[in-house]
Amino acid sequence: MNQHTPVLIVGAGPVGLALAGDLGWRGVPCVLIEQTDGRIEQPKMDLVGVRTMEFCRRWGITDRVRDAPYPGDYPQDCVFLTGLNGFELGRERFPGRAFESCPPQSPQKRERVPQDMFDPILRRFATGFDCVTLQYQTALVAFADGPDRVTATVRDTRTGAIRTLTADYLIGADGGASTVREGAGIPMSGTPALTYATNVLFRCADFPALHRMGKAYRFIFIGPEGTWLTIVAVNGGDRFRMSIVGTPDKVNHSEADIAAALRRAMGKDFDYEILSVMRWVRRELVADRYGGGRVFIAGDAAHLMSPTGALGMNTGIQDAVDLGWKLEAALAGWGGADLLRSYETERRPVALRNVAASTENLGRMLSTRDRKPPPQVFAPGPEADAIRADYGAWFTETMRHEWFMNGFHLGYRYDDSPIVWPDGTPTPPLETRTYTQTARPGARAPHVALPDGSSTLDLFGRGFTLLRIGPGAPSGEAMLAAAAHAGVPIRVVALDQPEVREAYGRALVLVRPDGHVAWRADMEPLLPGAVIDTVRGAKARPREGRSDLEVAS
Ligand SMILES: Cc1cc2nc3c(=O)[nH]c(=O)nc-3n(C[C@H](O)[C@H](O)[C@H](O)COP(=O)(O)OP(=O)(O)OC[C@H]3O[C@@H](n4cnc5c(N)ncnc54)[C@H](O)[C@@H]3O)c2cc1C
Repeated sequence: MNQHTPVLIVGAGPVGLALAGDLGWRGVPCVLIEQTDGRIEQPKMDLVGVRTMEFCRRWGITDRVRDAPYPGDYPQDCVFLTGLNGFELGRERFPGRAFESCPPQSPQKRERVPQDMFDPILRRFATGFDCVTLQYQTALVAFADGPDRVTATVRDTRTGAIRTLTADYLIGADGGASTVREGAGIPMSGTPALTYATNVLFRCADFPALHRMGKAYRFIFIGPEGTWLTIVAVNGGDRFRMSIVGTPDKVNHSEADIAAALRRAMGKDFDYEILSVMRWVRRELVADRYGGGRVFIAGDAAHLMSPTGALGMNTGIQDAVDLGWKLEAALAGWGGADLLRSYETERRPVALRNVAASTENLGRMLSTRDRKPPPQVFAPGPEADAIRADYGAWFTETMRHEWFMNGFHLGYRYDDSPIVWPDGTPTPPLETRTYTQTARPGARAPHVALPDGSSTLDLFGRGFTLLRIGPGAPSGEAMLAAAAHAGVPIRVVALDQPEVREAYGRALVLVRPDGHVAWRADMEPLLPGAVIDTVRGAKARPREGRSDLEVAS
């Protein structure tokens, strides 16, 4: 039987689920196919970043994330050590997730919720919409991109039965070995192998009682050779993930290697049950193109990075949010020819920046291999204590780049996007550890707490939002009329708070459906139709450095 859908998404990992959910939330029908039965053998991601939490907020699912069964009081410390029963070199202290506060720039905070808790939340959200159909055990085999539709051949992985699906758009959220990317002939560039690693998920009921480091989220082990192993608390209970960090040389860690690593980490034999083993390669790769026409890729299909920085899934969910409203606009007819093309222009530079930052973080974690610990680090005694403290302080400071990354999680911007109307102000520097809010076109629209306890972020959603800020703000009528003429969904919100005016910097600010600023000015645009046509991808934007007033004159 032939079935047609506006959007066919391949891959129900977190990115495919998020895209299906965003489309469902917009009322856009889609079919999501997944080759497995949805079971997660070994959770990979466990940090839901602050921006992803802001998306969860707009989708109305933050309570479900908060209530996920990762215990709120489980300390999130990162500990640098010679062994669980050896010496502690340093510790970055973090409270349990229930006690961490939101950063001043956001109404949300990051959350420790591993993939086997987070995917089901996204799945429940997506499948809660009647217009979303999720089909497990259905694999994409091949596709053909035609002028007015994509034809996909899919296989039932239980019976082997083959059938055809057609779609207006095909999105590959099918992970690192993406069939869609391969079928579209898109190469990836970068470094294919940073290290060959082995992750081991194991159960140990009384793990904290077996050593003297206390409860912590992450242990990073440093031996005479430098950093060699990490162990993280996967569910804040009885499950842990050991990762043999590896090297760029291809190795296949054996069962004996795994047993020896666990014994070395603990400093003695102990009882554990191995639940799964995942041998994987840490990569730094970005797709040369993100698709075009009717076929696009998102998430790990488009970018692969070291998990040092928790940017992998979080970058992918940003892709999904960038794509969601553009697909809706294209299907509804108000999206111009450049709108879907802008997906690559906006998102690929973010991926390039994030994969590089993740590799830099890996370099910091492995910097102990170049600056090896002096032998005293492993010896008892007061003289050794002093040397240990010095070495530990250096490493603790080095690792801070990885723990504090809001310049990446919140500070990504679409400065050069063809669908953003520049305001003539200079481009601010991109930040790394810190994040300064700006409402410059292309940036994430700033969070300001409103008197009723909500956030300015709560004002943005399915369509465009025109903010009128301050008592003397222009009416915005010209912009509204231009939007209505082009069929662009828009609403006006008037705000009076001086803090909002300060954060947004102008009296009229146009915010896109994904919460990024598209345009701002202190007066009505002289060419409202040109602004609307630019932000909906129907017209080239003016050159950088020229305000819309200059363009009009
Ligand atoms: C150890 C580790 C820790 C990590 N920690 C974090 C973290 O804390 N935070 C973070 O943001 N990221 C983290 N990441 C990265 C993160 O896990 C990935 O970026 C994320 O899973 C990518 O999601 P995705 O949906 O794009 O792809 P995937 O999760 O790979 O999902 C792709 C899906 O597509 C399906 N599929 C593939 N081919 C087909 C086909 N032909 N037909 C149908 N279905 C198909 C697959 O079965 C799979 O379910 C970590 C990664 C690792 C390895």
